[in-house]
Amino acid sequence: MTDQHYDVVVIGGGNAALCAALCAREAGASVLLLEAAPRAWRGGNSQHTRNLRCMHDAPQDVLTEAYPEEEYWQDLKKVTGGLTDETLARLAIRDSAHCREWMRRHGAHFQPPLSGTLQLSRTNAFFLGGGKALLNAYYRSAGQLGVHIRYEAPVDRLELDHGRFVAAYVGGERIEAKACVVASGGFESNRDWMRAAWGQIKGEWVADNFLIRGTRFNMGVLLRFLIDAGAEAVGDPTQSHAVAIDARAPLYDGGICTRVDSVSLGIVVNRQAGRFYDEGEDFWPKRYAIWGRLVAQQPGQIAYSVIDAKAIGRFMPPVFPGVKAQSLPELARALGLDAAALQRTVAEYNTACRPGTFDHTVLDDCATTGLTPPKSHWARPLDTAPYYAYPLRPGITFTYLGLKVDAQAAVHFAGRPSLNLYAAGEIMAGNVLGKGYTAGVGMTIGTAFGRIAGTQAAAAAIKGKARASA
Ligand SMILES: Cc1cc2nc3c(=O)[nH]c(=O)nc-3n(C[C@H](O)[C@H](O)[C@H](O)COP(=O)(O)OP(=O)(O)OC[C@H]3O[C@@H](n4cnc5c(N)ncnc54)[C@H](O)[C@@H]3O)c2cc1C
Repeated sequence: MTDQHYDVVVIGGGNAALCAALCAREAGASVLLLEAAPRAWRGGNSQHTRNLRCMHDAPQDVLTEAYPEEEYWQDLKKVTGGLTDETLARLAIRDSAHCREWMRRHGAHFQPPLSGTLQLSRTNAFFLGGGKALLNAYYRSAGQLGVHIRYEAPVDRLELDHGRFVAAYVGGERIEAKACVVASGGFESNRDWMRAAWGQIKGEWVADNFLIRGTRFNMGVLLRFLIDAGAEAVGDPTQSHAVAIDARAPLYDGGICTRVDSVSLGIVVNRQAGRFYDEGEDFWPKRYAIWGRLVAQQPGQIAYSVIDAKAIGRFMPPVFPGVKAQSLPELARALGLDAAALQRTVAEYNTACRPGTFDHTVLDDCATTGLTPPKSHWARPLDTAPYYAYPLRPGITFTYLGLKVDAQAAVHFAGRPSLNLYAAGEIMAGNVLGKGYTAGVGMTIGTAFGRIAGTQAAAAAIKGKARASA
């Protein structure tokens, strides 16, 4: 067993951890960052991200028009159904107005705004090169500033004294510090925990068929440890951000390219070749995040997005090509579905499509009549070969259960903030995001609270040092 001493130890290696480490170091603390992943896989879910949601009152560098604090707050209130702490949410929103300058100082680059109907350049700043480039820049900057970084260093427990951090353990190794930031993500990669949280539907352990869109290293070890040690929790363990992704995606780290965006242009059927939800309920960017849960509720947690030749070129092509066939029976056979059942489902749907003016950029009048479930928009008969299908599985982005924190990012024990233990990123995002999601807010929360946690941890450490030498 070795004993090491730092001012601040940061646990995790994603966006929140790096923001915390950089800020703690800038505030004059000696910092050690412990990342569970090997160097090649560093960066957690953050390496898969593309953008950050930012408030602004007027056009700003890569952001067009205005996205004022109040509009951002109302968007957040709406998607969370009010399950959000307004003080903490507004703190994160306000930080998003000026954090980009700090990010640039640490090597971040942003993409110039895009044009087109579905672009997000009013609300979201896109990282040039994506989250991987952003994280690489942060690691480079951290190294240059003298942050010590260790990979393949999963922390399995902490030593606490009445809610005060004393040391972190990597296996048998004890690492002491004056303050600590936990930024070790959610628990979505922990299959046993996901199994317990989601339980069984019709005798099936639904989580056994989940794919994880991000890192395999977010096992929730410290989230579990801290809750068991008396830290207050927020959020619901059964809540996860889950989208429908291609069933052929890898179990971990498929990232954004495995998402299937063809749903609203055709129909979605389950293993029995039956439809189960309105594919045209609303614009796809507003609906994609409900489809992971919808597929999870189907037998075997599998479904198929079926389109015809008319849809090609109207959605972002996913990384895997669609299963292609010249007829519906041939398509059914390729998918292992009952051909007669698929033909029946498509025939019922085709008959129910009422004539209208198809326009995928608006909520058009192409709807079904007398069909259950209905398709409310973009309903056109599937009648033009070749036909295509994409197999779908629930793709879990992240979980919502987290640690309760205050505006200083301090972890709470029995109603009282810890004097030197802070949390940032997904491990505390549930304070702001009790459920639901709006694109780019994960990085807003991680950046704001990472910066706060790092600064507070450095201040606590330096205060502790001053007390010790007095
Ligand atoms: C495919 C995908 C796309 C996304 N796109 C966006 C987007 O464009 N915009 C957006 O805002 N959000 C996006 N998100 C959500 C976003 O990734 C998260 O909100 C954000 O990255 C959380 O940052 P974090 O630092 O808390 O967690 P992570 O980036 O997941 O980092 C957690 C880190 O902790 C480490 N770790 C875990 N346990 C331990 C341990 N015991 N000891 C040491 N280290 C440990 C992990 O290895 C990892 O490095 C996306 C997520 C996914 C999966």
